[in-house]
Amino acid sequence: MLDGCVPWPEEFAERYRAAGYWKDETLGEMLRARARERGERPALVVGQERYTYAELDARADRVAAGLLALGIGPGDRVVVQLPNTAGFVALIFGLFRLGALPVFALPAHRSSEIGYFCAFTGAAAYAIPDEPEYRALAEEVRAGLPALKHVLTTIPEAEPVELPRPDPADVALFLLSGGTTGVPKLVPRTHQEWAYSGRAVAEACDYDASTVHLVSLPLGHNWPLTHGLLATVHAGGTLVLASGPSPDETFPLVEREGVTETGLVPGVALLWMEAAEWGEHDLSSLRRVTIGGSKLSDELATRVEPALGCRLQQAFGMAEGLCGFHRPADPPEVVLVSQGLPVSPADELRVVDEDDRDVPPGEIGQLLARGPYTIRGYYRSPEHNAQSFTSDGFYRTGDLVRLLPTGHVVFEGRVKDQINRGGDKIAAEEVENHLLAHPKVRQVALVGVPDEVLGERGCACVVPRGEPPTLAELAAFLRERGLAAFKVPDRLWIMAEFPLTPLGKVSKKALTAMVG
Ligand code: AMP
Repeated sequence: MLDGCVPWPEEFAERYRAAGYWKDETLGEMLRARARERGERPALVVGQERYTYAELDARADRVAAGLLALGIGPGDRVVVQLPNTAGFVALIFGLFRLGALPVFALPAHRSSEIGYFCAFTGAAAYAIPDEPEYRALAEEVRAGLPALKHVLTTIPEAEPVELPRPDPADVALFLLSGGTTGVPKLVPRTHQEWAYSGRAVAEACDYDASTVHLVSLPLGHNWPLTHGLLATVHAGGTLVLASGPSPDETFPLVEREGVTETGLVPGVALLWMEAAEWGEHDLSSLRRVTIGGSKLSDELATRVEPALGCRLQQAFGMAEGLCGFHRPADPPEVVLVSQGLPVSPADELRVVDEDDRDVPPGEIGQLLARGPYTIRGYYRSPEHNAQSFTSDGFYRTGDLVRLLPTGHVVFEGRVKDQINRGGDKIAAEEVENHLLAHPKVRQVALVGVPDEVLGERGCACVVPRGEPPTLAELAAFLRERGLAAFKVPDRLWIMAEFPLTPLGKVSKKALTAMVG
């Protein structure tokens, strides 16, 4: 396995292979298999562009050859920051075929994040849309990073060539963790376990060749990648991409393409429900919408089915692996109040108190997870790994949950220092570190305040150094430092001093109660 990654212990790997969760198949071969079985079936629709499985498969081969001709080879890392385009899909399957590793950035990331991903992974290339803003960003990032040899503004293609086969047990890609630390952590995923997560989602959701899945959230997140791309390709269904989730764009697509499935965060689901009232578009092809990424309130949950005229399914998941979905047979009383059931029978969940002791059944505690598609460690992060994983390999999710007797998971809060802004995760420490560099900031603590649409927004609590800063000043400062816009606090709260815990630490709990 790639240096700096933590493999599964052999006894677990053996068990996962024996049970058929891990197959001797690479991600590139997963697409190839569909192309062989159903080459003429529609695989991908983006605007006016349409690809059958055979066409997508052939393009992935050409992209792999094009990358190789540029000098990008097996094991190289490529930071991918592309919008939802056919080029995105072709590029990542080309990379999988080649055994080069995409590092999935989000369109909102700026120089602070991208520079770090490129440096930390030693990336050989950075793929961006051919737009002035991203070209400027690439130029900024490239200065001082000699290892970053290529900025790809178009997807390279060449006549297909024979390529060595990547090892299915090796790392195929990097996802970004939602994060709680000063810099985001990278999540290495292997061919066989990530392919399994897509397969397990397809099975949990009963996907088949008639599935038409619309992705309108940024495709570089683990959720659209597994639930949208992988599960759909596994089932031989059709993936439809939209550039964003606004009903103006997505509703005509649902109607035109006969979309049957889609994944939404709660704030977008609310928008969809309001827009559906106008009744301008025929949404009757939708069989189900899946809502996740952040907590759907029980109240909103009851309104989804009547408003959108299809079934509601909730889902939860994390870049580190574990994910859960409702099953088609789950009764409404379970679907309305829980966030889903883990997708694999081999997922092991524990709910523990502060001393890592199991809480009594049904009580709230921190969720720990281990299983055939949940990582055993972050990339090159031994210190974080010692904190984020138990000695026997359970990932500490930082989520407070309780389990229903049926095994369904109910999200009740968080112990991690993170803000979930409509599904976009903000590590408080990362933003605080930047704000501490501002001359008018003496002390700072970022906390979440409730928000009806996004669930939460960021509020910077600041003890000033002399004249207090304004929110606009701090926002401009963070943008200048190259931080993604969604991390910029929505509110500012100036204080003379912070409430402290009995141990003398800043009490975020007390702060949250004060500003919320
Ligand atoms: P990410 O790695 O960015 O996908 O973020 C994973 C985190 O999102 C989880 O650890 C949870 O804190 C949160 N999350 C995901 N889905 C849900 C959900 N349905 N309800 C509440 N929180 C969620």
